[in-house]
Amino acid sequence: MADSQGHSNGLTAQAFGAVLDASPDALLAVAADGSITMANAAAERFFGISRQDLAGRSHRSLFTAGFRDEVDKLFRQLGTEPGKPPPLREVFCVHSGGAKFPAEVAASLLPGLEADGQTPTGAAPQLLLSVRETSHRAAAEEDLREAMSLLTATLESTADGILVMSDQGHVAGFNDQFLSMWGIPPELIKGDSAEPIMQLVNAQVSDPLAFVDRINELEDNPAAESHDVLDFKDGRTFERYSRPQRVGDMIVGRVWSFRDVTPRRKAQEQAQQAMLDLAAQAEKLRAMAFQDPLTGLANRAVFNDGLAQALQEPRLKAVDVLLLDLDDFKEVNDILGHQAGDDMLIEVARRLRGCVPTADVVARLGGDEFVVLLTACPNADEIAACIVRCLHVPVTISGTVLRPSLSLGLASLGQDNVGASELLRRADIAMYAAKAAGKNRFLRFHPDMMTALVQRTDMESGLQLAVSRGEISVDFQPIVSHRMGQVVQFEALARWDRSGERVPPSVFIPLAERTGLISEIGSEVMALGMVQLAPWLTEDPSRSLSVNVSGVQLQDPHFAEEVLRLAAASGVAPYQLILEVTESVFFDADCSLIKQLSTLRDAGARVALDDFGTGYSSLGRLQDLPVDTVKIDKTFVSMVRTGTERLPILSSMINMAHSLGLTVTAEGVETVAQADYLTALDCDSLQGYLFSLPEPGRRLEYALHHAEEALNALNALNGR
Ligand code: C2E
Ligand code: CA
Ligand code: CA
Repeated sequence: MADSQGHSNGLTAQAFGAVLDASPDALLAVAADGSITMANAAAERFFGISRQDLAGRSHRSLFTAGFRDEVDKLFRQLGTEPGKPPPLREVFCVHSGGAKFPAEVAASLLPGLEADGQTPTGAAPQLLLSVRETSHRAAAEEDLREAMSLLTATLESTADGILVMSDQGHVAGFNDQFLSMWGIPPELIKGDSAEPIMQLVNAQVSDPLAFVDRINELEDNPAAESHDVLDFKDGRTFERYSRPQRVGDMIVGRVWSFRDVTPRRKAQEQAQQAMLDLAAQAEKLRAMAFQDPLTGLANRAVFNDGLAQALQEPRLKAVDVLLLDLDDFKEVNDILGHQAGDDMLIEVARRLRGCVPTADVVARLGGDEFVVLLTACPNADEIAACIVRCLHVPVTISGTVLRPSLSLGLASLGQDNVGASELLRRADIAMYAAKAAGKNRFLRFHPDMMTALVQRTDMESGLQLAVSRGEISVDFQPIVSHRMGQVVQFEALARWDRSGERVPPSVFIPLAERTGLISEIGSEVMALGMVQLAPWLTEDPSRSLSVNVSGVQLQDPHFAEEVLRLAAASGVAPYQLILEVTESVFFDADCSLIKQLSTLRDAGARVALDDFGTGYSSLGRLQDLPVDTVKIDKTFVSMVRTGTERLPILSSMINMAHSLGLTVTAEGVETVAQADYLTALDCDSLQGYLFSLPEPGRRLEYALHHAEEALNALNALNGR
């Protein structure tokens, strides 16, 4: 405002006043006595006091209690060191309304001037105070502090690890999460060099080279942002995000953030795996719709489709259906177990496929039933014969050598254009005929077979009524003890006389077992047997009655109860009863079956193992079975022809049974040689045509007589 000579640059007092008023800071002139001599517009505004009112007032009234001496101090300071401007003083001022506000005060000395404001008076200098309100600054600082603490809190509470690197390569900031995620000791990050940290980091990531490459690449492109995924050697996965750190337009560093996405990754991988599994399962299901899961052959649906298509094809002259059913497969299943059964089916399927590589369809229809579809085949009969032959080759299953055998029915499209279901039915009828003809063979369908089928269904309906019609009767066959020289037992054997014609047990017993009718028939045989034999039994308590029992009957939880009831009703003591069962009832035996037999044995009845030696079991199993007697099957007895042969099998069977405390009966004894041979082996009882045929109840005396005659002749011959 004034040059070095103290002259103004031509500024009028009025203009000077305007300049003062333009200042945003409050300007006040204070005389040595502390009174205000001049104030500008900003001062009026700050303090809420007009210029007129300010004039003459003490400056002290403008400050809060603690700051009222500040101006005096400034005076003194400028008085002692006039050339040196004192530093800014921070004070609190008071508005006329009472509000306090922070301010900065600067001060300088004003020489005394005339009223024109230009001429020095030589009077005592005044103090020019410049007061700048700083409340906005305090607010800004407060805001900054708040923002900083918010930022720190945010940084520390975030799950992300954050690292800020300066463009000089120094660590400019990080949060605790960053340290713990990377396992960096805090003292390491406070060090000068980033090298040990890089080593630590490189040791953890799966691909350290790629990791370093990426960092270098971003160093060359400070403005670039990056987003990628880091895989760790320990299986963790981090998402890495980085962007430049800017201050204004300048890039001063880079902010890195790391997020541990391992759980999310794992969940994603699991979800992905689940999707794959699901897809695989769906594929399997699709395959299963057309495939037999056990053997991998086609299923019934595929066969039906194939057959329907073949029959629609007008040029196809030859269409052959070969239906096969394994013989006695149930036995394999029952005796060797389901796993063996499955193994057998798989082997059969394998052989079957090998036999007919050119077949249109080879399918498993279910159970042990298979079907082959041949079209345009000139020699279906040869193929059928070949299948029967190939299947009959021995195979070892579960340690047992088996010869799978099957019955095959063949039906072909002929002059009479039959439909698919009729063709299959014919193959089925032929297959049944093959079974009836002795199994292990194939038969081509012939209309006569229909008659056999009709007979079979007719037989079944006849059997249903057999008991109620009184067509079931019992024959008794004596069993002799050579030691006692008398008949000790009778076996009751079922007979069915149908309209005056006798149906052999080998025909109706299996049918009765298949249909469940055996329970009713078995009870009838037992009741008739007990009633008819009761007089003979009561004469001598050492005599007994033997009755055949099927596995089906033993399934009935009331079986034992029923047997004991029948015995009581006919006056037969339970200990005079022998129940004949075959080995097969013990395989797959459940507790209930064992319980039935135990109840009967507890009541004194005995159990005989019928047809011993024909089953699949080894002799070793004998000791585990709840039996008292074994009945050696007639096939073994028939091995004795002259009586001079060595048959170790017979002697070991008898010895084994004896060593287990069981008695032994031989069945099917037809010749003296056989009787002698068995007697020599110490067999306990003998049964067979040599002694007597099975005879009806009214001929019991005859049977007894005949048997004892034969026994006497035998003993006489041997000089006993
Ligand atoms: P099984 O229990 O082995 O009965 C013995 C079979 O051998 C009887 O045949 C009998 O007549 C026959 N037989 C007796 N002595 C000789 C002989 O010296 N030589 C020959 N070759 N055979 C002889 P059957 O009466 O035809 O009975 C056949 C099968 O039917 C019986 O064999 C038995 O398994 C079954 N069966 C008979 N009646 C019943 C019954 O009431 N219930 C049950 N579940 N099955 C029965
Ligand atoms: Ca028997
Ligand atoms: Ca037998």
